[in-house]
Amino acid sequence: MPAKKEVKNIGIPGIAPPKEKCNDPNCPFHGTIKVRGQIIEGLVVSDKMEKTVVVRRDYLFYDRKYRRYEWRKSLIHAHNPPCINAKQGDAVVIGETRPISKTVKFVVIAKKEGVSVG
Ligand SMILES: [Zn+2]
Repeated sequence: MPAKKEVKNIGIPGIAPPKEKCNDPNCPFHGTIKVRGQIIEGLVVSDKMEKTVVVRRDYLFYDRKYRRYEWRKSLIHAHNPPCINAKQGDAVVIGETRPISKTVKFVVIAKKEGVSVG
């Protein structure tokens, strides 16, 4: 882990770095992890894990037999660095990264301010 406390540019347009700092090596802004691949928006449905949140993604699925769309959901585990500290009900932007653990391969890169449910 680098000793310097600089905020890195993670190379994703429209994402402002967080105001707080952290010492988490798995933070894209203050650690060594790189964000590449998918960028997804979702809602935090659980923050009970240590530095990990569960993000729900709602998407429309087209049913060919009945020729209509239906809402489906997927749950994605994402690393939650202390400088962002997303809570349950927060709308967040998560980015794909290398696998951090067995189920975590996304990291929270921003909270969407003004959008919060319960
Ligand atoms: Zn950080």
